[in-house]
Amino acid sequence: MDFDTITQDLYKMHIGDIKEYEPLYKHTTFRVGGPARWYLSPYDALSLKTLMHYVHSHKIPYFILGKGSNVLFSDKEYNGIIISLSEHFQQVDINCCLIRVASGVSLMKLAYDCAKWGLSGLEFAGGIPGSVGGGLFMNAGAYKHDFSEIVKEVYVLDEHFNIRCLSKEDMSFAYRHSVIQQHPEWIILGGLLEMKAADSKSIQELLDRRKEKRMASQPWNMSSAGSVFRNPDEKPAWQCIDECQLRGYEIGGAQISPKHSNFIVNNGYASAKDILDLIYFTKDTVYEKLGIVLTTEVRLVNWD
Ligand SMILES: Cc1cc2nc3c(=O)[nH]c(=O)nc-3n(C[C@H](O)[C@H](O)[C@H](O)COP(=O)(O)OP(=O)(O)OC[C@H]3O[C@@H](n4cnc5c(N)ncnc54)[C@H](O)[C@@H]3O)c2cc1C
Repeated sequence: MDFDTITQDLYKMHIGDIKEYEPLYKHTTFRVGGPARWYLSPYDALSLKTLMHYVHSHKIPYFILGKGSNVLFSDKEYNGIIISLSEHFQQVDINCCLIRVASGVSLMKLAYDCAKWGLSGLEFAGGIPGSVGGGLFMNAGAYKHDFSEIVKEVYVLDEHFNIRCLSKEDMSFAYRHSVIQQHPEWIILGGLLEMKAADSKSIQELLDRRKEKRMASQPWNMSSAGSVFRNPDEKPAWQCIDECQLRGYEIGGAQISPKHSNFIVNNGYASAKDILDLIYFTKDTVYEKLGIVLTTEVRLVNWD
């Protein structure tokens, strides 16, 4: 099927906002990535279902994007559809301590809103620049807490285009892991979170304290994707990288952050390839010097 026909079909379906040749660096916190042939933001679950029917029946490559804070797209064109739920999947409904939240909602905003509402459980997420969908996919976490602790249900569009309700147990949460990682064809529509009533001021103060701590220890004003590597069993990834004297090491415009050595930052002129080369160089060096295998937490997309 040719690209012009696909373009016409996508517009005819009226299922969402469509951009053509959209630069992906605009949608990732690393600020790198080539253009996407189509960048589509579906209006709602029904539009998404129609789109997925079309995508599967025409075998069109696609990728579900949250806030792009844990992905490294290559510099080349993505010859498929980037499906973003960040624009229209924004509903939040509160019923006592239960929050039903759509996958495009910002985790940081939700954490601060919950503080205002006197709902505790998301204090770990005040500095995580992802979406609810990305957070559930990754089981995002910090300060020894993670998403799994507050999840009651997760709603996905499955491979048969049906909406399926997964329990917390179905999600098989573990350290930066959820069952969705084994089912790339499942799309998270949202979730039901179970919070605890607590004093609004104390939650806000905890969020603020943690924000200050992050600003002191992480390169918050640089483009990055947070921690690049999972922490291996032996010792934290930052410590492995430090022991190999790689703090501050640069390839092109990509640098191991002098402030936090498990962060790779874009010094303003990095290509995606610079960042990938630095990831591989770091892995190789840590393995050669310490015999420890670092696993990349950042998702690599559109590389050969
Ligand atoms: C400065 C900084 C600090 C960070 N600190 C932390 C931290 O403390 N703890 C932590 O855990 N992470 C941290 N991160 C990493 C990142 O924010 C999290 O992994 C976050 O959960 C990713 O969410 P996202 O919406 O940006 O997902 P994306 O990066 O857009 O996508 C990540 C993966 O999730 C999949 N995905 C996204 N949405 C959906 C959906 N609706 N359905 C199915 N799949 C989906 C994508 O396909 C992709 O494979 C940090 C990142 C930055 C830049």
